[in-house]
Parts: sequence; C-alpha cells; structure tokens
Amino acid sequence: MISFNVPACMPEAFDYMKQAVASQKISGDGGFTRLCNEWLKENTGSAAALLTTSCTHATEMAALLCDIKPGDEVIMPSYTFVSTADAFALRGATCVFVDVRPDTMNIDEKKIAAAVTDKTRAICPVHYAGVGCEMDTILEIAEHYGLRVIEDAAQGICAFYKGKALGTFGEYGCLSFHETKNFSMGEGGALLIRDAGMAERAEIVREKGTNRAKFFRGQVDKYTWVAAGSSYLPSDLNAAFLWPQLERAKEIQDDRMASWQFYHDSLLPLEEKGLVQLPVIPGHCTHNAHMFYLKAKDLEERTALIAFLKMRGVQAVFHYIPLHSAPAGRIYGRFDGEDVYTTAESERLVRLPLYYGLARSDAAAVVQAVTDFYQRT
Ligand SMILES: *Cc1c(COP(=O)(O)O)cnc(C)c1O
Repeated sequence: MISFNVPACMPEAFDYMKQAVASQKISGDGGFTRLCNEWLKENTGSAAALLTTSCTHATEMAALLCDIKPGDEVIMPSYTFVSTADAFALRGATCVFVDVRPDTMNIDEKKIAAAVTDKTRAICPVHYAGVGCEMDTILEIAEHYGLRVIEDAAQGICAFYKGKALGTFGEYGCLSFHETKNFSMGEGGALLIRDAGMAERAEIVREKGTNRAKFFRGQVDKYTWVAAGSSYLPSDLNAAFLWPQLERAKEIQDDRMASWQFYHDSLLPLEEKGLVQLPVIPGHCTHNAHMFYLKAKDLEERTALIAFLKMRGVQAVFHYIPLHSAPAGRIYGRFDGEDVYTTAESERLVRLPLYYGLARSDAAAVVQAVTDFYQRT
C-alpha cells in the first residue's frame, strides 16, 4: 500500500530528544523550543514566533489576543479544517462563511466585503495547500472596515505571497506541525506575531496568564498572574523532534517540490484531455508542495477513483465537509451569499500521497493508476 502520508522524522531527532531529557528541562520553552522559535522568526520575517501545542491552539491564542467576544462575527471560508472556526466559536463569535475561488480553493476575496456587518471583527483567511490567498485585497478590506486579520497558515510554512511569508500579513499567523504537515512534531504549531509590541501579551496568554517568560529573562524578580490565559506551550521533547526538520528544511522542501512537480507534469496530459483539473498556482504565489490534489468530474467520479486507487494499493483521500453544512457549523456559523463553489468543488477534490521521502517509483505507480482509471473505458 502506498500510504497517503508518512510523517517526517529525521534520525537526529532521537539524539536531540536524549539531549532534551539530559538537560532536565523537558517542559515548555527549553533549548529546542528556543531554537525553533528563532528559526521561525528568521525564516518568516515575523517580529516573534512562539511554538504552541497545535495550530488550533495558536488560533485560539490569536482569538484571545484580538479580544474576540460573544456576538462578534469572523469571516472565513467554509472549506477549511474545523480548527479555523473552533477558535472563534469558543469565544462566542459567529463564523461567517464566504465562498471559495474554484482555482485555488482559497476564500474569494471579492466576496468578503459583502459579508461585513457592524458586528464583523476579523477576517481569517486560510492558505489552502500552501497557496497564498489574495492578501493585498484582504488587507485593503480589513483596513477599510477596521478589521483584524488572523491567518490560518497551518499549511503555509515555507510558502510566500509576492515574496513575503504566509502567516506574516495579518497581526497573527498560525502554523501547524501536526504529523500531516510538511514539518512535524506529532502535535504542535506556532503563532507568528507581526509586530514586536504584541509579543509580550502573547507570551502571557501562552503561559497561563503569567509573566513567567519575563521572569526567566530576568526582567522581573518574581512571576505572577497578570491576565487570563491558558497553557499553549509544548514540551521541549516535541521541539527536539521538530528541530532537525527545520535544520534540514531545504532538503525536505526540495524533495516535496520534486514529487509535486512530478505529479503535475505526469498528469498534465489528463488535464489537457479535459479529464481532470490540476492545482492552479497564481504567478505571484510560491507554494510549498504541502499537498497535491486533482479534481475529478463530480462526486460520483471521485468516489470511483478513490475506490479504484485503493484497489491498486494507493491510499488517496478527500477532506473538509464544508463547515456550514456540518452540525456545529449550523450552530456557530452561517454562510454569506451563495455557495457557488464551496460544496461543488470540494466534492470533486482528491489528494494524492505526498510526503518527504516518497519514492519516485511509488509516485509513478500513483500516476499510472490514475491514468489507468481514466482510460478504463
Ligand atoms: C492542519 C490544519 C489545522 C489544524 O492544525 P493542528 O496543528 O492539528 O491544530 C488548521 N487549519 C488548517 C487549514 C489545517 O490544515
């Protein structure tokens, strides 16, 4: 069976985890966490970066830091993972879902302004498949209506919009290091902070509402409870697992990009025959090979394709039941305008196996199986 995903794991990770244990500091903010924070800050150009227990938690932090309150509305796509909505639903806000663009599956920036009401507080764009949303337009709308911008950049590490890292446009950017993402620490994520002035409050929220981080830096002589917060910092063991992947990020990214390009080039003939649709990468976006998907004709064809691939030993998956049609989505959200593409396009999408170390022979077998499916009649 060719697995859909094999989480990245560098052999050095075990040595680093031993070092973390030997340092007798495996709780949060140990040496490996600091290395990861520094790497993230430098490689994204954010003012500060804090490793978190997940992207879900980074988004929760951003919602807290933006003072999202009951009755507020937050604009986001319906075609996304539940975490995007959860973070705001937990604060009592209403999720206002906006349709996606059929080319990138990102929120349709042209439909955002119509969804703004006097209760709107924030926009949460999701950079699907590591392809940037139209941030210029989104930032203009936010500026015009006085809205906060929190980016769900869970899939966006090492990806850029007009040369600027995803997750650094809004006040906060949320990354994921879940095992299905390009770099993994099992469960984990990070909060990217755009402005240096916002970093201190973020540290406090992440450390149970205490000024413990300041205490460790020797800036205060005792630490105390200064605000409402929670525990969003991961164990240094998890950071030690992640760190070698960041050290060798280029190698991981080059490998993923090569697999992505192989799929793209090999499946292009099927697209030219009008049988499938391949991902669209706008010229000003640099993607990160987070995923390779194709779109079948419709739901029925997709179901048959996934079953055919399974028979051929290929694990292909689809994802995201649009949130507005999920039971909790009906409670916590509403769809603004017409669902032209969200449901129809999501029902056609299939993700192919893509991970660091995917053997070229396996990728070729996947391509062959897809090609055979479309030539079966
Ligand atoms: C993976 C993912 C998340 C959640 O990440 P966790 O680290 O598992 O919390 C959120 N949003 C999107 C778009 C994702 O792909």
